[in-house]
Amino acid sequence: MRLHLCNCFNATFAAADSPSGASAPQSGGPVERSVFEDLAIGSRICAAENVFDAFGHLSVRHPTAPDRFFMTKSMAPALATADDIVELDLESNPCAGETRPLFLERFIHSEIYKARPDVQSIVHSHSPSVVPFGVVGNPMRAIFHTAAFIAAGVPTFDISQEFGETDMLVGNRDKARALTRCLGDKSVCLMRAHGSVVVAPSLQLAVARAVYTEVNAKLQLQATMLGGPIAALSESEGRIADAVNIAGVGRPWELWKRQALRRMREEAELDD
Ligand SMILES: [Zn+2]
Repeated sequence: MRLHLCNCFNATFAAADSPSGASAPQSGGPVERSVFEDLAIGSRICAAENVFDAFGHLSVRHPTAPDRFFMTKSMAPALATADDIVELDLESNPCAGETRPLFLERFIHSEIYKARPDVQSIVHSHSPSVVPFGVVGNPMRAIFHTAAFIAAGVPTFDISQEFGETDMLVGNRDKARALTRCLGDKSVCLMRAHGSVVVAPSLQLAVARAVYTEVNAKLQLQATMLGGPIAALSESEGRIADAVNIAGVGRPWELWKRQALRRMREEAELDD
């Protein structure tokens, strides 16, 4: 069986290694508290919508310092609060004063932000319905309009192509660069026997795309079980439909955010 793997792992990469200095990088500057709140809520939404379990992470680029980004400390995303946010530079070094534990796979985020100026937010997950598509030769296709971004194509990153047998984790810059090359200019990249990465020009859209990648995977499996050819969205249909989804992302975000805030209030009441 042949996997639809990207053939880009031998490509050169423009960004050179930036040596980490002895001193920690400085913060990109203060941001509105709502940036941290939305990041925590987005993490909780991904957990509630079956994108995250105890693992997985969401990040957002610093709104005024593009060489910095935010994510939570290493923790279960369903427990995230605005007080758990850490700031990192594009080498995945934490900014000065940060001592909390960090995600092993934070390099996924820093390398993608470095290579893709259009990306403002990233989700890395082990979204369960998506994982099977990373180990079979059947490519993921856009089964419905809400997942239109998938019609542009979904490459699969096989870490073994460049790094041999590993623990499968993208735990350093070299592996993250290889993943970033495989992602290319797409919005989704599968990771063989691991999970996926989803990118977007806003945090709200990254969360929505991660949720609808998971939903699309379930729907594609159902469509496949019905048999016969699958009339998925064409690439141009995907572009047209995605413009509508981008404009309308506020609707699912407001719903999911309200539900997340309600759950947070209920948890707080139980803790009292
Ligand atoms: Zn992972």
